[in-house]
Amino acid sequence: MEWRAEGMKRRRLLARGLSVGAGLTAAVLMPQRVRAAGSGAAKSTAGKGGGERGRRPVLMIDPGHGGADPGAIGPTGLQEKEVTLAVARALANRLNASGQVTAALTRSDDRFMELAERVHRARVAQAHLLLSIHADSAPTPAARGFSAYTLAESASDPFAAALARRENLADGLGGARLEETPPEVAAILFDLAVHRTRSAAAYAQAAVVRGVDGRLPLLERPKRSANFAILKAPDIPSILLEIGFLSNASDERRLGEAEGRAQVAEVLAGVLSRLLDGEFFN
Ligand code: ZN
Repeated sequence: MEWRAEGMKRRRLLARGLSVGAGLTAAVLMPQRVRAAGSGAAKSTAGKGGGERGRRPVLMIDPGHGGADPGAIGPTGLQEKEVTLAVARALANRLNASGQVTAALTRSDDRFMELAERVHRARVAQAHLLLSIHADSAPTPAARGFSAYTLAESASDPFAAALARRENLADGLGGARLEETPPEVAAILFDLAVHRTRSAAAYAQAAVVRGVDGRLPLLERPKRSANFAILKAPDIPSILLEIGFLSNASDERRLGEAEGRAQVAEVLAGVLSRLLDGEFFN
């Protein structure tokens, strides 16, 4: 039956981007930036600084884990949730002080927060970019350095797949909720929005890795992709940074010290203000 085939197609489109809850459906039907993309003249006259005069680019910084979920724990007991919060705060302070970017935090204290709530906060803030900060552990203590993840349909390698499984365990997200199926046109708009969002995330990932290179230790093949639920907002470009490995003694020491954290925040602040102030996000 044809209607059945169409229904299946719609479901695949939706499943591709939407797995953080049916509540997102209404928000993604006509996302703001897709409407803007449809009117080239309006975009070109808006000029540098965004479509809305005077509105700075908004970065939502998400410190991974929190509360009852400590994330990775280093050999000396350093907890990922504490590292991510400290670096996220330092980064937000630097960006807000620069006056070029408005930076906000999904959580500013030690609390548990579901992944869907983190994405929701980014949407409420109308974030141009969602940046989730983590510092993972690896089975091999030698693994160290910085890497940046975009969303993958299926994780790019077993290492990335294992990482994604651990991160997504936080609140059990993963399956698409499709009880509200929108009309055909919504599926097409949705697909366009998702495509545009994923392209912007890939651009941001490349820019961040390029900016970090030579200034912080990089993991080999630092541009990675994995099926992280935090990256699944269909309308907000999202990347996840692993700023190091707490399972590596050198990274744990670096990320446990104020100096090491400040260095990460300084490098990222420079990279992100250039990125968000640039043409691509305006
Ligand atoms: Zn993590």
